[in-house]
Amino acid sequence: MIPFLDLKAQYSEIKPEIDAAVARVVSSGQFVLGPEVAAFEERFAHFCNTVHCRAVNTGTSALHLALLAAGVGPGDEVITVSMTFVATTAAILYSGARPVFVDVDPVTWTMDAGLIEAAITPRTKAILPVHLHGLMADMDPIMAIAHRHGLVVIEDAAQAHGAEYRGRRAGSVGDLGCFSFYPGKNLGAFGEGGAVVTDRPEFARRVALLRDWGQEAKYDHAIAGYNYRMDEIQSAVLNVKLDYIERWTEARRSLAERYDALLSDFPFGRPYPPGHARHVYHVYAVRMAGRDDALKLLRDAGIGAGIHYPVPVHLQRAYAELGYRGGDLPVTEMLAKDFLSLPIYPEMPPEGANKVVATLGRAAAWQPSAAVRNLERPRSGMSWSHSRRAS
Ligand SMILES: *Cc1c(COP(=O)(O)O)cnc(C)c1O
Repeated sequence: MIPFLDLKAQYSEIKPEIDAAVARVVSSGQFVLGPEVAAFEERFAHFCNTVHCRAVNTGTSALHLALLAAGVGPGDEVITVSMTFVATTAAILYSGARPVFVDVDPVTWTMDAGLIEAAITPRTKAILPVHLHGLMADMDPIMAIAHRHGLVVIEDAAQAHGAEYRGRRAGSVGDLGCFSFYPGKNLGAFGEGGAVVTDRPEFARRVALLRDWGQEAKYDHAIAGYNYRMDEIQSAVLNVKLDYIERWTEARRSLAERYDALLSDFPFGRPYPPGHARHVYHVYAVRMAGRDDALKLLRDAGIGAGIHYPVPVHLQRAYAELGYRGGDLPVTEMLAKDFLSLPIYPEMPPEGANKVVATLGRAAAWQPSAAVRNLERPRSGMSWSHSRRAS
């Protein structure tokens, strides 16, 4: 049995500290937006190398409030990707704006910056790249385009705590960065949680107002807001876990390195992080023909595998009214068909990776389709990652 992730193993590693932290909150009698939240905000801003952090109740709320703080609203368009969890799109719709999808790069699986300018219209207000699986999107060209067109950049860093792009941390490159602390994320609460980080004091101020009913003082509502507050118990848990995140991230990275080596002879696509990137492997995905059979094989062997994500947002029934169709985003749609996520979590014993790969090897029937073979081979001149690595 190898689970997809093991939150109980993580808890048992730090049980005394967690139990003491939770007990401290319970006996303090202060449960929402208190000293634990304030301490966490200061420490998480530091972790992200940003000036401000405002904690909220979910990653979705973080995205929603980041969009509102940046002035995004009805009539606006936000350029984003469809290869993501639906929350990215949902948050844009909550703000009243319209999501406009661009395809992802076939090598890095994140927003293809080369497609952004063609998607810009007079209504475009923001760009919302997603750091899929823990690899930061190609931020330099995204920021350059944003500056040229006067657009705000909001990073969806829900899967990318501690990831880096040319030495800069996830959340610190765009105008605002959004994180989730859902239990299964790389930094997970014991319940729901999220945060917005930014260097701009006016954005931090607006997020702080919006998350707590727009109150400037008790019962003095300056703007119409929401109840998106973070609670003390979640912050207390996160304050404990923040001391371990670097170690846990390194454990993920060394498991990924092991998978890379073990899989090198397989006809699979793998993550190809650019040389300058720190990938934090929230997900370790491979690409293969016959993905559904491989998923079944692994699951039958008691191995927790998954797909992130099997149906892209633009093809979800819930978002049909956005008007997209199959074929609109070919790379995204191909990834949805051939992605397979292998188990990876800090407490996973390294031999676990051997067992996963050996199980896949038992049915070494996976042959790459011509499309996969071409796409997994980095194309010179096409891929920023590989062309720049050489320079
Ligand atoms: C998890 C996730 C979210 C949403 O976070 P919640 O805390 O579950 O609301 C948003 N975007 C991405 C890419 C995510 O993985």
